[in-house]
Amino acid sequence: MPAGFPDFRLGSVLATSFTATLTERRGDPVERIPTPQRLIDWLAVSGLAVDSCTPAQLDLARELREAIHAAATATATQNALPASAVKIINDRSVEGRAAAVLTAEGKRQWQLSPAASVEDALSVIAADAVSIVSGERDGRMALCASPTCQAAFFDTSQSRTRRWCDMNTCGNRQKKARFNANQRKKLAQ
Ligand SMILES: [Zn+2]
Repeated sequence: MPAGFPDFRLGSVLATSFTATLTERRGDPVERIPTPQRLIDWLAVSGLAVDSCTPAQLDLARELREAIHAAATATATQNALPASAVKIINDRSVEGRAAAVLTAEGKRQWQLSPAASVEDALSVIAADAVSIVSGERDGRMALCASPTCQAAFFDTSQSRTRRWCDMNTCGNRQKKARFNANQRKKLAQ
C-alpha cells in the first residue's frame, strides 16, 4: 500500500473492501472514510481515482456501503435481501458511467467518465456488489468469525472454509486470543 494511506483493509473483492471502510461493526466501529478526502484516498488505492468529492457524495457513498453490507449479510445468513438495500445498490449501479478496459498487460482497468465523478466510481462498486450477491461469481458470502466484526466477506478459498474477513487483523487477533487462553490453561494445570 502506498505511504500516506494507512488504515485501509483492502481485500481482493472491491465491494467488500468497500464495506470494510467501516470496521469493528459489532464492537467499537471505526470509520475509515470520515471525510470526503479519505473517500478520495480510498478510491485512488482501489483503482477508481476521482478528482473531487463533496460531503453529499460522501453521504451517497456511505449509504451505498451500508446497503451492500446489508445485502451481503442477508446473503451470508440466507435471509431475504432488504428491498431498500437492493434499491440503493441498483440506483448507484445505473447512475454512473464507467467502462472496463484492458491494459497492455491484459489487466482490467476501470475508466470513469471524463468528469470522473464519485457517482462513476460508486457504480463500479455497486456492480461488483451485484456480482457477488447474485452468485454470478465463484465464491461464497460469509460472515467474519470475530464477534466484534462479523463483516460480510466473499470467500473464494478452494475449500470455502475461510473464517475471517481479514487474516492480518481479525484472523490474527482470534489466533492470539486462543493462544493466550491455552497458555492460561497450561499455567492453571
Ligand atoms: Zn473481521
